[in-house]
Amino acid sequence: MLKLKDVSKFYYNKGIISSGFTKVNAEFKLGEFVVITGESGSGKSTLLNVLSGIDSYEEGEMYINSEETSHYLEAQSENYRKKYIGNIFQNFNLVNSYTVYQNVELVLLINGYKKKEIKNKVLSILKEVGLYRFRKTKVAKLSGGQKQRVAIARALAKESPIIVADEPTGNLDSRSAANVLETLYKISKNKLVIIVTHNYEQVEKYVTRKIKMHDGKIVEDKLIKKTLNDISLVTSQYQNMSLLYKVKLGLRNTFNIMPKFLLIALVYLFMASALLSQYSGFKKLEYEENKIGYNNYFKNTDDKRIIIQKNDKSVISEDEYAQINNLDNIDYLVDDDLVLDNEVLFVNETSSLHLSGTIKELSKFSGNVDLGKMPKADNEIIFVGSKNDYYIAYQSSEILGAKFEIENPYNYGVRAGSYKIVGIKYSEESNGYGQYFFYTPDSIFSIVKKFADERYSSFELLLSGKIYKPEYWNSYMKIEFNDNVPKGKAYVSTDMNYECSGGTCISKTLNITNNNIYYEKNIDVKITKSYTKNTFTSLTGLKGYNENNGKIYINPEDYESLFNRSNFQSSVFVKNIKLIDKTNLELENLGFKTLLVKDTLVNWNEGTSQALRIIQLVVTIVLIIVMFFISYFIIKVILKSRNIYFTTIRILGASKKESKQLLDIELLTITNITYFLLIGFLLLVNYNIINLSYIKDLMTYIRIMDYVIVYLILIFMTQLISSKFAKSLFKKSAMKTFNEVV
Ligand code: ADP
Ligand code: MG
Repeated sequence: MLKLKDVSKFYYNKGIISSGFTKVNAEFKLGEFVVITGESGSGKSTLLNVLSGIDSYEEGEMYINSEETSHYLEAQSENYRKKYIGNIFQNFNLVNSYTVYQNVELVLLINGYKKKEIKNKVLSILKEVGLYRFRKTKVAKLSGGQKQRVAIARALAKESPIIVADEPTGNLDSRSAANVLETLYKISKNKLVIIVTHNYEQVEKYVTRKIKMHDGKIVEDKLIKKTLNDISLVTSQYQNMSLLYKVKLGLRNTFNIMPKFLLIALVYLFMASALLSQYSGFKKLEYEENKIGYNNYFKNTDDKRIIIQKNDKSVISEDEYAQINNLDNIDYLVDDDLVLDNEVLFVNETSSLHLSGTIKELSKFSGNVDLGKMPKADNEIIFVGSKNDYYIAYQSSEILGAKFEIENPYNYGVRAGSYKIVGIKYSEESNGYGQYFFYTPDSIFSIVKKFADERYSSFELLLSGKIYKPEYWNSYMKIEFNDNVPKGKAYVSTDMNYECSGGTCISKTLNITNNNIYYEKNIDVKITKSYTKNTFTSLTGLKGYNENNGKIYINPEDYESLFNRSNFQSSVFVKNIKLIDKTNLELENLGFKTLLVKDTLVNWNEGTSQALRIIQLVVTIVLIIVMFFISYFIIKVILKSRNIYFTTIRILGASKKESKQLLDIELLTITNITYFLLIGFLLLVNYNIINLSYIKDLMTYIRIMDYVIVYLILIFMTQLISSKFAKSLFKKSAMKTFNEVV
């Protein structure tokens, strides 16, 4: 059934050709027990390797069941080995970290035997070779003779018709050798057995045919016993390894050598934590860089603030506010958010101190003040600024307890009540840009709302067919409200008379339009009185004719009606900054146009920080690459001891691809275990079960997505390591690797 016709094997080594054997002719059939002898270097091993498809040949033809094999490619050779060959080696070539059972099971898993079948088969064959009671023993603990019997069991387990054994007793004492050979003989009836040995006497009683080799040639081929002629061929049935088996073996390989597992896990732990800390450090830097900055449009630059408008710039309804409040990450909502960005002036008459800044709700103040006391009365407020600020460092005693008039910086002269600064809070948040905060009670909010309304509105007057546009800095024809003026009426200065036909404006209709980017409102009032220097105070109840002359006074309710109190723009403050992008998306899905205030900040030194960021990014990438190589080399050294394992499973019938998959599963298992251990550790830190504030601080800068990114980088690195390792391992043929490592 196996026939060699003029077969030669040459070795090419660095340009030098040498011969393994030349022009060998022989035919083997089932039932034979063939012994090959000959001195060392005569070509016995080479011949066996060619016969078992581990090695190629260069000349002649080898037939298996009359089928030519010289054209075989690697995959076909693999099939040939799987179908026909069981190998036994001088060095046993077992997996030492596996038990006896697992070693025999291995070959059946690789050849895709059915699960039910495997157990019975392994156990019955272990009984046959007399190793049943050692089935749970690790192979490393067995004697040489026992090991070789395991190897025989393994070679026979998959029922290959040809058993090839290269000096199977070479490493055994004579008693074990006899025992092994007997075992082999007993259980290999009806097969073709080809044994190479130095010691012919040991095998003599089983031999049916003797072949002697010398200098690469068969010099003697002698029939010792007649064998049966009509043994029918039963080839081993085999399939590819199923995924389940691969996972089973991969997991077994992960854990069966604990020190190896722990070492690789340590390397991965180092890799994962270095990666994560570098990554979060980068994120932190990026975040801090973004935080400091200024903005010409928004005074409240809280990084948790999102400004929203309807896509069509329409009024935001109560329903929509309710929807927003229902979102997960909303801390609070400021519906009329112009208030947040509208600067107000607090003016102290006696010391002529002018403090300008924006207001925040007192109810949102947390903690305690640094100087003075917390507000109690309705007109008491807190002043917030940098500790190093001039006013706070040198004038806090004058500021504390002093009365300040609130004033609109965009509408000079209109005072709107007086307040007392009773507490000072240090905060670097307001540093560098002359920007202060005031925590104020709700009463100020309605005043500042009016300031904002005025600031973003412009009046247009229509009088006697002419249009006028008063400016806020000029009192002439500027509209103001005054309690003394009845509804629907207006008081004007006599200086205005010449604007009107007939030299008087009395009883003329004045049309006032308020133009705003969002809306337009207008009213008609009738001019009923005009004031002069003498009548100004009695008519309006105000002092200061000179500063105010020219103003048009109308009733507060009329004034109020020029403003639409609906909200076209609001601001949302999120609880968790990490989730701000998600909240942003949710708001967009609700039909809002959004603006993250943190993204609008302009940095002082944009150029330098950009350069810094790029340097940091490069450092991160270089670190990843360096780490990859360190890890790769450490893991390679650790895995080196596993070369023999992968060679063995390939000789047993696993393809390159399957072997690599086993390695993948092993490394991926370790990666996942270490990464999720690390995540578990971070969770404990996050929930304060382990107290490490430095790590906790870093964690605030990374989001779930970032953990996923780091995970993917790790998986990618694992893949790279496994491919590189597999490539260097499988570059050579299985036999060559085997020869090198043994
Ligand atoms: P044996 O098993 O009978 O001792 P081998 O089959 O190992 O002999 O070797 C036969 C010949 O082939 C020897 O001359 C040996 O030097 C040569 N040979 C074996 N393996 C290689 C190899 N990998 N490269 C080059 N020459 C080899
Ligand atoms: Mg040899």
